[in-house]
Amino acid sequence: MTTAPPTRPDPLFLGDHPAMDFLNSVAGQPDGRTEWLADGPGLADWLARAGLVEDGVAATFLDAPDGRTALDAAAGQARDLREWLRAFVRRHAGSGLTADAAAELDVLNGLLADADSHLRVEAADEPPFEPPSGLRLRRVRRWTAPRQLLHPLAEAIGDLVAHADFRLIRTCEGPDCTLMFLDRTKSHARRWCSMALCGNRAKVAAHRARVRDRRA
Ligand SMILES: [Zn+2]
Repeated sequence: MTTAPPTRPDPLFLGDHPAMDFLNSVAGQPDGRTEWLADGPGLADWLARAGLVEDGVAATFLDAPDGRTALDAAAGQARDLREWLRAFVRRHAGSGLTADAAAELDVLNGLLADADSHLRVEAADEPPFEPPSGLRLRRVRRWTAPRQLLHPLAEAIGDLVAHADFRLIRTCEGPDCTLMFLDRTKSHARRWCSMALCGNRAKVAAHRARVRDRRA
């Protein structure tokens, strides 16, 4: 069983960075709250859909004795990591990071030190190839324990912390929407998680307000 229960909606990948998407793996929106990492299969499914692990990794773990328990425990650790990241992002979003932030990263560096992976050069299986060598560099992970599912998450967080401009991290302006994103637009004027979810709602609300004002 590698797929999430069919009742779970599709994950939202609107954060414009895998670590921001990870924050959005629990989402409060006007129509309710969704937790995609509620259990082990949910975590494995979310990671596969995010492109952070291959399909079928969860099945490897579930075949082991107590595999489901260990996988559920990894989901709990992933939720803890996510809320650790949320607190870090909230402290620094909008103002940017300085070298002093390194003192707050023991949790992250502990996980990164624990990783068991290597890079491998191999034939790329689909175009476009960039550069056009037909080869790609891929990280190969040795999957022996569900806890290792946290490693690709830790690496994504490491990339966010080291490379992203925290002045451009924002929360969607939609009322009751908790989704966060890295604003990579040219104008740095992004306001919504997406037009479809919150932007259009705001437009409709503004239009209604204008109509009401005209009638008043
Ligand atoms: Zn929103």
